[in-house]
Amino acid sequence: MTPAARLKAARRIVVKVGSSLVVDPARKAPAVAWLTGLAQDLAALRRDGRQVVLVSSGAVALGRGRLGLEKNARLDEKQAAAAVGQSLLMQAWEAALAGADLFPAQVLLTRDDTERRRRWLNARATMEALLKLGAVPVVNENDTVATEEIRYGDNDRLAARTAQLVRADLLILLSDVDGLYTADPRRDPEARHLPLIETLGPEVLAMAGGSNAEAGVGTGGMATKLEAARIARSAGCATLIVSGLVKRPLAAVAAGARASLITAPGTPMQAYKSWIAGSLEPAGSLTVDDGAAGALGDGRSLLASGVRAVEGRFDRGDCVRVLATDGRTLGVGLAAYAGDEMERIRGRHSGEIEALVGYKGPGVAIHRDDLVLSP
Ligand code: GLU
Repeated sequence: MTPAARLKAARRIVVKVGSSLVVDPARKAPAVAWLTGLAQDLAALRRDGRQVVLVSSGAVALGRGRLGLEKNARLDEKQAAAAVGQSLLMQAWEAALAGADLFPAQVLLTRDDTERRRRWLNARATMEALLKLGAVPVVNENDTVATEEIRYGDNDRLAARTAQLVRADLLILLSDVDGLYTADPRRDPEARHLPLIETLGPEVLAMAGGSNAEAGVGTGGMATKLEAARIARSAGCATLIVSGLVKRPLAAVAAGARASLITAPGTPMQAYKSWIAGSLEPAGSLTVDDGAAGALGDGRSLLASGVRAVEGRFDRGDCVRVLATDGRTLGVGLAAYAGDEMERIRGRHSGEIEALVGYKGPGVAIHRDDLVLSP
């Protein structure tokens, strides 16, 4: 498959842009014309029925510019720069997207938001809501509070985790090169471009020598891009490494510009479900009545009204077994409510749940997307 064909087939796309594209290094200010071009690209994808999420760096670089800080500033100064620059970054995206009749939503994540299942469920629900409401989520790491031990570290990795969070089927990394080469193309004239990568073995990872730290902004290099591609791939999401050095980089790819495609086996939903079934230890169980068992077989969510009994201590987002009344295991899934709440809502209609638990929650015991039936 070509990069253009993969782009055309994608339904939910995460686009990652690094500081060296977002920030004009000479003026240390947003690269307005380039941002405007990318916003046009995103609008074109949206008109074509695709959903887009942006992961944008640039906060630290813009903040440093405004504060007059050097590149080797102390950690607390860098975090302060991120706070100042994030606001400038969002102003720039607000203006660029407005020119394409779109509007951004600022989403600041720390590693815990994608690693702790409860927080991750909340972050996912918010992202879904933003997409449904028509916003363009503009994601960055919450650098102001994220210190070393709780950081993603670089926005390539953050973008891959974001792709996994929203179950995107395509991650686009805009880079200062048009993809992966057998060697660094700036140093080695023999370097060969790789348009299609179907496995990420050690020989591919070894090719990722080059770095884009030369521009003096940003932290990513080819190695972090491949690491991001590896994370995305394990989540059923393909990755495109694309040159961001042109004005309308996504239009260019659609028109056949050179890029590297790293494919993923299966779909994001398949990867997600095999993670639920294969990696999580059930913390409890829900016994369901025959009507509910039949509905699950038809691909529907598990409603609280069909839950007869609740066993075990579990939190919202924990994995639970779903049992038939005769004790057979029907499947496993992520509980939409904690065990004590589940006890309160079992056998009750969806409309009663809010009053019983005291908040407006998901309204089902296990959502069908979070449920894997036994073969
Ligand atoms: N989150 C950082 C920023 O906005 C950038 C980190 C990176 O580019 O990898 O400045």
